[in-house]
Amino acid sequence: MNLDQFSCPNPGCPDHGKNNGGNINLYTRYGRKQVRLLICKTCGKTFSELKGTPFWDSRLDWDTIEKIYRSLLTGQGIRATARDFNLSKNTVKRYLRLANKDYGTVLHFLQDRGVISNGDAQLRELLAQFSSRRQVVVGDRPSAVVM
Ligand SMILES: [Zn+2]
Repeated sequence: MNLDQFSCPNPGCPDHGKNNGGNINLYTRYGRKQVRLLICKTCGKTFSELKGTPFWDSRLDWDTIEKIYRSLLTGQGIRATARDFNLSKNTVKRYLRLANKDYGTVLHFLQDRGVISNGDAQLRELLAQFSSRRQVVVGDRPSAVVM
């Protein structure tokens, strides 16, 4: 994964909040998910790649998350995906929702893992598919809270 999407979270750093500055390096990995701890070369502070994004803050391991998206992208529905991986439908829906909310991060993740090879058309199509289906199926509820 490209480190250019990360910026230094230290407010006192001259490179605070700047992307693509070349100041962010991999420091180490930790935990069950092998989350990356990053370091800002400018100020020397370390921070987790999980900081500030709802996607990275999820409870499932990366492999399961990858499988969920892979399944959805190959045309499996929410129900079938949930059943295949022994998850609740709400969990699967949650990852669809995260892909909407944190689109860039999810796209990077899927490209990094080779789930999506060229461009982001597949992911956009997937989200469009589920957002239109949602409106058809649940006309009696506000669509914003359903997916
Ligand atoms: Zn810094």
